[in-house]
Amino acid sequence: MADTRETMIAWLRDAYAMERQAIDMMEAHSGRLDSYPELKTRIDQHIGDTKAQAQRLEDCLQALGTDTSSLKTGLARASSLMQSILGSATGDEVVKNAIGEASFERFEAANYRCLIAAAEACGEMEVKRVCEQNLREELEMAEWLDSQLPMVTRKYLGLKETAGTSEAKR
Ligand code: MG
Ligand code: FE
Repeated sequence: MADTRETMIAWLRDAYAMERQAIDMMEAHSGRLDSYPELKTRIDQHIGDTKAQAQRLEDCLQALGTDTSSLKTGLARASSLMQSILGSATGDEVVKNAIGEASFERFEAANYRCLIAAAEACGEMEVKRVCEQNLREELEMAEWLDSQLPMVTRKYLGLKETAGTSEAKR
């Protein structure tokens, strides 16, 4: 049981790192979405949601008696997935970023599904509740992004046709 609890706490810290990573990623993407106002608005909204998610995780860790002072360092673990998805700049970043973001939401959701099961195993009902709330928000965002991918693609292709790549990628 003590071991299970330690594992769950380690995963909570990973989830916190994942959310911080998500914030950095979305802030970087949001800055280049002037031609995609709906996408920008929803991403900016999810940045706000994500900050609240990270705070809820930090509160859980504190309530579990964990030292949270080192949380803001060592955040690199979640980032390699994004690097592999995004690749290098080729002019179609808006589309690639949208694919990456949709994928990242599913990655986050999968993490929370495992954390929910781990929290149940430890009888940590508040952790479970927080992870269920975060999971709902990830799934909402994932579904919204999935539904927007065709529109984003058509818009990108249209802008590329009319104004060249430099306009389409802004
Ligand atoms: Mg999140
Ligand atoms: Fe998310």
